[in-house]
Amino acid sequence: MLIDHTRMRAILAAMCVAGGSDADEADIVAGHLVEANLKGHDSHGIGMMPRYAGFLPRGVLKPNIHARIVVDTPPMLLVDGGHGYGQVVAMEATEMAIARARDHGASILSLRNANHIGRVGTYGERCASAGMISIHFVNAHGHAPRVAPYLGSQSRLSTNPFCCAIPTGNPDEPIVLDMATATIAMGKVRVAKNKGEPVAEGVLMDHTGAPTTDPNVMFNTPMGALRAFGLHKGYGLSLICDLLAGALSGGGSVLPENQVDNTIVNNMLAIVIDPARFRDTGELSAEIDAMAAYCKSATPANPDEPVLVPGEPERAMRAKRIAQGVPLDDATWEELIAAAQTLGIDRARMNAMAHANHGETEQNS
Ligand code: NAD
Repeated sequence: MLIDHTRMRAILAAMCVAGGSDADEADIVAGHLVEANLKGHDSHGIGMMPRYAGFLPRGVLKPNIHARIVVDTPPMLLVDGGHGYGQVVAMEATEMAIARARDHGASILSLRNANHIGRVGTYGERCASAGMISIHFVNAHGHAPRVAPYLGSQSRLSTNPFCCAIPTGNPDEPIVLDMATATIAMGKVRVAKNKGEPVAEGVLMDHTGAPTTDPNVMFNTPMGALRAFGLHKGYGLSLICDLLAGALSGGGSVLPENQVDNTIVNNMLAIVIDPARFRDTGELSAEIDAMAAYCKSATPANPDEPVLVPGEPERAMRAKRIAQGVPLDDATWEELIAAAQTLGIDRARMNAMAHANHGETEQNS
């Protein structure tokens, strides 16, 4: 089905509240997940909610937890997420890092023990909207690793995202490079499995190390593995993400002892820079814009695919999905209903929320 983003948001907020979140938290989590869908990253959108619903009763995800400062010696900031919703604690920690960068020119945030922080670009975009440049290294554990080291045939790393966001002359159009260090995010394998579609060549290997396009290998035992992007380079960046985010914060690397709870723990190292301390921001923006335009001036190799800068595909998808609705496959919808039922929301209410008219849903959300 195609579902309006406001309906999605209402469904997610209702599920969060049923899971114990207060209204503010439910709105933040729902808003983050819907933005991921709107920006084309279904892997980090509404489809994550069934996993969160599974985490809640086991106490590995705790509602209504806020970021707790452990070390605050500018420019250094260590924050503990207390296994709360990552969308909440990571944004709170990001706001703290922005405030310190404003005061001191730069800040280095080490966030540990957040549950899944979702789409990392969200935090980069927030920094850019505050006029800051930011660089984010993220690792994940709490479950088996999914990515094989270069030349390996067994997983030893998570999909460890890297993000860098840079404000431009247009406040609505930052450059945002936000990417898993695996060829694709694990959630995209789940989306392909739910749609019954193969993944691209070169993305996956089965448990013997043989190449495959079958997403089911990541859901079988023994499990297959994702490949890091860019051969040894992506592998190297993934390892760096694990060490800078996990080991440095004390939140942990994806070592075997940290793989056991069937949850998602995200740790993040973020470096936030106030560019105004180095250069007149008008001059800097002009150079950034000129460079982006220079890249985009290259003649497309394929006339149907213009040259873009990072962040543009998400903005284009967002405009399209706001206008047309967000596609939601049947398997994901059934997973959501099953998860909602565990939280005390029945199928009839889920269907009613999905099909409510626009005005009703906006009120509910
Ligand atoms: P992707 O491959 O779709 O995009 C990666 C980046 O490339 C984006 O910045 C995008 O704007 C840019 N891009 C795409 N096409 C482009 C083009 N033609 N020209 C220029 N730039 C282009 O993203 P992904 O690697 O599948 O990651 C998806 C999301 O998953 C990210 O938001 C990431 O933060 C998230 N993620 C989160 C976790 C976690 O543990 N929380 C783990 C892995 C991934």
